[in-house]
Amino acid sequence: MTDREIEEVYQIIKDYHEKYLKKHGVKLPKLKDADGKYTRNALVLIYLAKFYPSTVLVTKQDLTAFIRKFYPETNDVQQARHLGAQSGWFISAGGRDNVHVKKIGEYRLITLERPYPNFKGHRIETTGNWENIKQQYGNRCATCGSEENKKNIHYPNTITKLQKSHIDPFKSLIEGNIIPQCQKCNRAYRNFWVFDERGRVRGIAKPAVIKKCSKDIKWKIYKILYNEFKGTNPNE
Ligand SMILES: [Zn+2]
Repeated sequence: MTDREIEEVYQIIKDYHEKYLKKHGVKLPKLKDADGKYTRNALVLIYLAKFYPSTVLVTKQDLTAFIRKFYPETNDVQQARHLGAQSGWFISAGGRDNVHVKKIGEYRLITLERPYPNFKGHRIETTGNWENIKQQYGNRCATCGSEENKKNIHYPNTITKLQKSHIDPFKSLIEGNIIPQCQKCNRAYRNFWVFDERGRVRGIAKPAVIKKCSKDIKWKIYKILYNEFKGTNPNE
């Protein structure tokens, strides 16, 4: 691959990462290190994504040969496996139980639109105090008050399971930005609102929610915005 091809494929990976993977905690490796050399992780991803969205099976030998062009001393490329299960890129590594890739030593990038199945990102490590957080709320949903493992207040046929919810959906799910919510509240509010730490709505996170307002409210919102932005055409 030429430098130009490498950069083009990296840009594609970068765009998909920004759109689909970053929010799950998948980290994009840098293209080049401080010395201006391509990083091994970036090279491996680029090789796997070469024909994206069509992707092909790649053997460890292919990968090793490619990496050796940049790092001649390379013996054995392990990056593809690590980039998958550990780092969250949906790269299947061959093996008995794998539905995508059968043979050991073969890899395939499945998609750049979803992280590796069950990838938990770095959220788990930074939310190690989940039990503490729940305790602070008396093991109840911050929004509706339903208690964990008991009947949901509003849905008596549902046993309450508490889930980590964002206080502010624009920030990551780390301590300080987590409230426990029952599965009903978490699902109903999705990423529409910004909450306070008491589970009360204090702002809009998704502007499209105003489409549900009455014409009268929309008009009032329009007036506020019209004044604030002094009648600027939003498309300019
Ligand atoms: Zn609730």
